[in-house]
Amino acid sequence: MKLLVIGSGGREHALVWKLAQSRHVTRMWCAPGNGGIGEERLAANDNLVECVKIGAEDLPALLAFAKEQRVDLTVVGPDNPLGLGIVDLFQREGLQIWGPNQRAAQFEASKAFSQRFMEKHGVPTARSGIFSDATSARKFAESLSGRCAVKADGLALGKGVLICKSASEANDAIEQILVRGTFGKAGATIVIQELLEGMEISLHALCDGQTAKLFPTSQDHKRALDGDQGLNTGGMGTYSPVPFLSAKELAEAGERVIGPWLKGCRAEGIDFRGIIYPGIMLTKDGPKVLEFNARFGDPETQVYLPRLQSDLVELLNASVDGTLSKMEMQWSDESSVCVVMASGGYPGDYAKGKVITGLDEAAKLPNTKVFHAGTQKAGDNFVTSGGRVLGVTAWASTLKQARDAAYRAVDKIKFDGAHYRRDIAAKALTQAEH
Ligand code: AMP
Repeated sequence: MKLLVIGSGGREHALVWKLAQSRHVTRMWCAPGNGGIGEERLAANDNLVECVKIGAEDLPALLAFAKEQRVDLTVVGPDNPLGLGIVDLFQREGLQIWGPNQRAAQFEASKAFSQRFMEKHGVPTARSGIFSDATSARKFAESLSGRCAVKADGLALGKGVLICKSASEANDAIEQILVRGTFGKAGATIVIQELLEGMEISLHALCDGQTAKLFPTSQDHKRALDGDQGLNTGGMGTYSPVPFLSAKELAEAGERVIGPWLKGCRAEGIDFRGIIYPGIMLTKDGPKVLEFNARFGDPETQVYLPRLQSDLVELLNASVDGTLSKMEMQWSDESSVCVVMASGGYPGDYAKGKVITGLDEAAKLPNTKVFHAGTQKAGDNFVTSGGRVLGVTAWASTLKQARDAAYRAVDKIKFDGAHYRRDIAAKALTQAEH
């Protein structure tokens, strides 16, 4: 089979790496890819994966490329092309493509759509209101004593959520998003949710429109600095599985969240084929959904795929074809940890073009994989080209061993200004020691 993967981050490198292990794949492209993706080889014939210079949002060029190369399956990594309707476009042309169509991708593209859907179909979520007028928004925030999350409806590069702990913070947030329009059209409508307390986890489920198969648990670290301090980022590291939930509790959370969600999709005629990834707060009243994503989480993918034993091409084909109920997803019992190495200054401004050293030494370590996110090849070197640069991932029979192995690899890798958290998985390890 010939595959085209769309995207350029650590998630896409992890997808390419896992898909390349499939015996079904004879040729693979990634658009636009990154430095590390272009070094991957296919298990079937040792061919290199080829990066093509087409942006993930250039739908006409992606379509023309897939047709010209007679691609058998296109795999969409990021949310933007999904929101733009890439799946509908490819399907109209008779091409096989994995990911939710535009209507289904609204779960991520519109928080107001998701919130209304959850309330209508009994998916547990925070008390909330949807507003496009500041006066009623302020009134609702006041009824929550200002303790709320103010969210831009549309996609805002992961920055459209403001957490408020007082009435004045809530007023500022409403002013910023709704009145001053900091996020443009994405913030013309806002969702205000009560502030929920508890441990936050990510769930992922692979869907084919009728069936949803739940992944194991994982946890992201969104804040830039140790101890969950600093600004929100796209994710600074992950680990899987999470010790706060037993297999039984995970299955229960899945039933309470994914069960009514799937039923609701059927009732509304939403044909969701792809990954549904709810962000969940484990509150004292049970799991509650904060938001939905309609694609793989970026740092989550980097800890999930090393644990996935099944053939990912077969799973994605089944997701497209509606035959997931016949498939089994096999996961290793090992734990995995991913530490993101970022450019100094990220998520604010940062420099690019810094030479990265030590990748060869890190590659020699067992059960370790360095996924590239913001890198580029420059002659014989890799240089930084983005905020999150590398996802340094390791797996082992215990979480502690996996964490230590990931940091051993991090220690080998250097670039000017490199910044990473030193406490990835620390909460889980503290809990395990009790
Ligand atoms: P979202 O993009 O909606 O998941 O929001 C980004 C982050 O804000 C989440 O990962 C949570 O840490 C936090 N957050 C969002 N909504 C809430 C809420 N209702 N209560 C508490 N924290 C929240």
